[in-house]
Amino acid sequence: FRVHVTPINGSNGEKMGVVGLLRDVTQRRKLEKMRTEFVANVSHELRTPLTSINGFMETLLDGAIDDPVIARRFLEIMNTESNRLSRLVDDLLQLSKLEYRKGNLNKQPVNLTEVIRDTVEVFKNRAAEKNLSFTSDIPELPEVPGDQGLLVQVMVNLVDNAIKYTPEGNSVTVGASFDGQQIRVFVKDTGIGIPEESLSRVFERFYRVDKARSRDVGGTGLGLSISKHIVEAHGGKIWAESHSEGSTFIFTLPLGQ
Ligand code: ADP
Repeated sequence: FRVHVTPINGSNGEKMGVVGLLRDVTQRRKLEKMRTEFVANVSHELRTPLTSINGFMETLLDGAIDDPVIARRFLEIMNTESNRLSRLVDDLLQLSKLEYRKGNLNKQPVNLTEVIRDTVEVFKNRAAEKNLSFTSDIPELPEVPGDQGLLVQVMVNLVDNAIKYTPEGNSVTVGASFDGQQIRVFVKDTGIGIPEESLSRVFERFYRVDKARSRDVGGTGLGLSISKHIVEAHGGKIWAESHSEGSTFIFTLPLGQ
């Protein structure tokens, strides 16, 4: 609590009393703390690839550049790291745009059947490279009012994760259904799964169950947080389940009037 005390003086300057004001600042403190933590996280996430790029660059300048094999390897690492930096900056911009716009989307009728089938098509090769069984069964869905580009992004994030966090030879399944009120889409994998206590936390910015693994596979730690913003801006819900094996991500979108 923050306390303000103001004395009340009479016309001759004599003390007549005090007015006390108690203000609950818990919420504001919490927001401030979240903001500070966010800035610290962003700085750390930016610094990691930058440190790596600087290190390899200095080693090259110190002479490693004269060995073409080593030089190429270092340049490839620098390339990977600078791509990661770009993705991170893109994701941060996207997140801040979504926060700024809140629910004010420019909604048009979206054919989600097409969105889902196109996403599956885009990822077919990546799934094949990992020898994953990658199947989908998408009925003709009614149109939903939404922002097509953003909904594509949700699908891409979920399928990309399912493939990233599922070892070779396993399976990823995409499905959808609807009733009179909403569409429900799921992306299910038989991969590494998510511990119970992390199921809701994976939607937080920069939360990763396994930091090293996420970095290895090139993740920014922001994909699910962005997806959650998008789904909620459409009036829907998104959550994760992980029972006996793998993980399932499910989201719903209301059909509108
Ligand atoms: P990242 O860029 O790290 O993948 P996300 O926001 O997309 O960031 O996901 C946050 C974390 O949730 C990941 O680091 C990972 O630990 C976990 N996660 C997401 N999808 C899956 C999945 N399909 N299977 C297992 N873990 C997952």
